[in-house]
Amino acid sequence: MSASPGPVSPLTIRMHTSDNVAIVANTGGLPAGTALPGGPTLRDRVPQGHKVALQDMAAGAPVLRYGIPIGHAAQAIAAGSWVHERLLRMPAARSLQGLPMPGDGITTPPTALPPLLGHSFQGYRNADGSVGTRNILAITQTVQCVAGVTDFAVQRIKAELLPRYPNVDDVVSLEHSYGCGVAIDAPDAVVPIRTLRNISLNPNFGGEVMVVSLGCEKLQPERLMPPGSWALHDERQAQPEALDVVCLQADDHVGFMSMVDSILRQAEPHLQRLNARQRETVPASELVVGVQCGGSDAFSGVTANPAVGFCTDLLVRAGASVMFSETTEVRDGIAQLTARAATTEVARRLVEEMAWYDNYLQRGSVDRSANTTPGNKAGGLSNIVEKAMGSIVKSGTAAITGVLAPGDKLTTRGLTYAATPASDFICGTLQLAAGMNLHVFTTGRGTPYGLAAVPVIKVATRTDLARRWHDLMDLNAGRIADGDATIESMGWELFHLMLEVASGRQKTWAEHWKLHNALVLFNPAPVT
Ligand code: CA
Repeated sequence: MSASPGPVSPLTIRMHTSDNVAIVANTGGLPAGTALPGGPTLRDRVPQGHKVALQDMAAGAPVLRYGIPIGHAAQAIAAGSWVHERLLRMPAARSLQGLPMPGDGITTPPTALPPLLGHSFQGYRNADGSVGTRNILAITQTVQCVAGVTDFAVQRIKAELLPRYPNVDDVVSLEHSYGCGVAIDAPDAVVPIRTLRNISLNPNFGGEVMVVSLGCEKLQPERLMPPGSWALHDERQAQPEALDVVCLQADDHVGFMSMVDSILRQAEPHLQRLNARQRETVPASELVVGVQCGGSDAFSGVTANPAVGFCTDLLVRAGASVMFSETTEVRDGIAQLTARAATTEVARRLVEEMAWYDNYLQRGSVDRSANTTPGNKAGGLSNIVEKAMGSIVKSGTAAITGVLAPGDKLTTRGLTYAATPASDFICGTLQLAAGMNLHVFTTGRGTPYGLAAVPVIKVATRTDLARRWHDLMDLNAGRIADGDATIESMGWELFHLMLEVASGRQKTWAEHWKLHNALVLFNPAPVT
């Protein structure tokens, strides 16, 4: 990447030496007639984040960004022109046949990165070995029907019980829209059910499982949390206790307050155990980080995502677990991913998850191009290929050592592809189920996204966004485009911020304002 210096002079960013377009970095864009240093004079006004042709292109010629064709010129394009989406024909999705695979004699998986030792944070060690970054009581629900009652009870727990348990950070109700009115025996119903189960077991909940059930719902408590799936306490593993359930339709409830009082009464032993926990020093390898982007613009793939990618490498070197996700945003980079797979099995699983999603989209008569939003395009991202190339860099350069199906729980360290939709709230929900204890989220257009269960560090791609949303954005990667920071320095800054946030010494802005989005389950199965 090269950025020409100076705050008022034309600033363009070219990602790869073979690229025939660059993006305009100046706030407000650049007017027609601007002479680019060492490049053409602009024929059109080019908005910030949008592409300018660096050379003449014939109709049909590949338009190269990140060194790959993000499309083909729909007509001849003169040097200095604004290359907007209407001038680009999107290439077809890469076939899932004939991909580079480890062991094919040509492909060499990345060599192991040098270990990074000596970094630690203060976390809550759980009986199953996992580590929490927060100490939260979660109340699981089998069905949406109980959400109102549970929320009422949670408000009372916060007001009446929580002040007596100062070591407990919060009480959250795991509200969702599933549990009844669904084809619960459909093969794909396994996805929302295991997602809910695994969220209840997130490391930030300390192994305390408490369920509120209605009684008549399809998703019965024993189906959600089968015996053996939830006992996380050492003392319980020898002789598992019965699942702690409050059933609203139980005969002994007379009146609403009886239900609420039951929830408060049954919450108290969980609060006592959580309150007795203390933070202890644990190695950085105990971080389980989910990386995601949302509200992306052309700077996402230039500033914030490459900085996250550098930090991903640091985390992998430190022995931590990192998940990247968002299937429609990596589909166009599948050849890069299989080439980075540590084993043939990992490559095969990557292809399997892509094929599953291709088929899922096809059932709805769309393809991956349904991903891009009006805001993405206004921000300079012409199509999903360009967006994917900027999204995938969050995964850094390490070998991919694991692939996780939607809703499954992570059991391996290193870099994992956790297959999820790109939808911010669904991806975050699935990464929570995978066991994420820290979330990193980059945004260019801006989103106030947050989660109740896990701290979300938000990284702005542009200084202008970081300035206007100064009390929502935790880090400004726009400094890279401004020439005030490098991808490496920003990656290290993020790494250190992560350790501070994980330790509870620093709160994210979303935590400060208590902003959080709903859990949104991925349910590929029919509703009834
Ligand atoms: Ca997303």
